[in-house]
Amino acid sequence: MRLPLIALIAAALLCGALPGSAADAQSAKIKLLLITGDDVGAHKWQETAPATRDILAKSGRFDVKVVEDLACLDNADELKPFDVIFLHRYHTKGHLSDKGKENLLSFVKDGKGFVVAHLASASFGLRKKKEGDKMVVVQEPWEEFQKLCGRVWVMGTSGHGPRAPFKVKIVNAKNPIVKGIADFEADDELYAKLQGDAKINVLATADSDWSKKTEPLVFTLNYGKGRVFHEAFGHDVKSLKNDSIEKIICRGCEWAATGKVK
Ligand SMILES: [Zn+2]
Repeated sequence: MRLPLIALIAAALLCGALPGSAADAQSAKIKLLLITGDDVGAHKWQETAPATRDILAKSGRFDVKVVEDLACLDNADELKPFDVIFLHRYHTKGHLSDKGKENLLSFVKDGKGFVVAHLASASFGLRKKKEGDKMVVVQEPWEEFQKLCGRVWVMGTSGHGPRAPFKVKIVNAKNPIVKGIADFEADDELYAKLQGDAKINVLATADSDWSKKTEPLVFTLNYGKGRVFHEAFGHDVKSLKNDSIEKIICRGCEWAATGKVK
């Protein structure tokens, strides 16, 4: 009766399954930097950021750090430990420095991952404000950000109909991010007329009553040696409570970080 127990311990040691390997398991996790902290009033980032963090943490694959300030991009050395940067929200106020822009682009170009969700792609676009009876430009669009995201929400052009359940179609079933996921229903805003002409690999779409077109809602692209995962879901916590969307977010982040989905 002793031999099986010894064999079991040996097997556990070989698999690194004993308590001593807990630190190894932690270090093997994907390091994800989730940047939030600002958005339009309808987007409660204080709720959706923890919900997104929990979805990722629950998978057991990620070690997530949440920050609320774009200044986290100013120092390239502080980005080094991370495998992937997730821009979770639309930044309307925070200023991204030239150094921050350069660091973000280099991070991805040199082989790491970038993830952008919902209205976050509108960050760093053309921004105007009313002064007297005319509109003045307060921010010129950051053109390279559009290339990084593949498609971006452009204020005044992009849009969506009333929030309601809609059918999401998986269009590239062999891709590991959506493999085994059937078409599903989302309860979210169906983003439409995102702008850009970068080559994207579309994984899921939906038919928009607002634009009268089939819109790409989940897609990937390459940027330099790195990878970008873009998903348009996540208006609120309710929209994220969806098994298929949770799976797509986790797999998409993993793919952006490593180029694979385990
Ligand atoms: Zn929204």
